[in-house]
Amino acid sequence: MALETYRKKRDFSVTPEPQGRKAPRTGNSFVIQKHDATRLHYDFRLEMDGVLKSWAVTKGPSLIPGEKRLAVHVEDHPLEYGGFEGTIPKGEYGGGTVILWDRGTWTTIGDAHRGYAKGHLDFELHGEKLGGRWHLVRMAGKPREKRENWLLIKGDDDAARTEGDPDILDERPESVATGRKIEDVAGEAPGWSSKTGRIGKHRGRTRAAPPEEQPATVGVPEPSKIKGAKKAALPDCVEPTLATVVSSAPSG
Ligand code: MN
Repeated sequence: MALETYRKKRDFSVTPEPQGRKAPRTGNSFVIQKHDATRLHYDFRLEMDGVLKSWAVTKGPSLIPGEKRLAVHVEDHPLEYGGFEGTIPKGEYGGGTVILWDRGTWTTIGDAHRGYAKGHLDFELHGEKLGGRWHLVRMAGKPREKRENWLLIKGDDDAARTEGDPDILDERPESVATGRKIEDVAGEAPGWSSKTGRIGKHRGRTRAAPPEEQPATVGVPEPSKIKGAKKAALPDCVEPTLATVVSSAPSG
């Protein structure tokens, strides 16, 4: 019944978010979704026991080991949610815009189940943006306090940065799935992605897709806003764009 709270909070006849089911197999994916809701935050999710254990990191992760980022523990999410990018209708729980900010796998250092229960997880991230060692530590709370506050802290290693280095959140604001920024997705109709079609109708996709499955592309601009564009009937044949050899990889 790990997803009961998740389901209770959502009306699936309105929101494109997946209803989800607990996956039988155990993987080790992780995903960070940048979520522009009432307040901008980053949802940090670690796959454990067939669900995504989740924390809302209000300021987002920091690569500086001294920077402790508040991570509010929230309800478990279904694995399919890890592949969700799009908009959630206004007025719905979490209404706003979601992009896949980072994804990959995580490796626990020590016993993950014991660490999770104890409120102290040490692990390594193998993402497209985040790597190295990280810690999630539960803060001492008042008894019966509804929300658990944890702290997300970067471990001091080669993947760490110092105060003078660029902030990863500013440096890499884009989606790892589509290269889009949150503002590129914001105008999208709920549940519709210009890249993947109808989000939320993907059945059977239970894991965050590995990077190879989706090409890194930028969002398709609104045609009427392209300079010099003329409205015309769709041609009978549209020639496919063939691949071209270039010397460097595109950004995003
Ligand atoms: Mn969120």
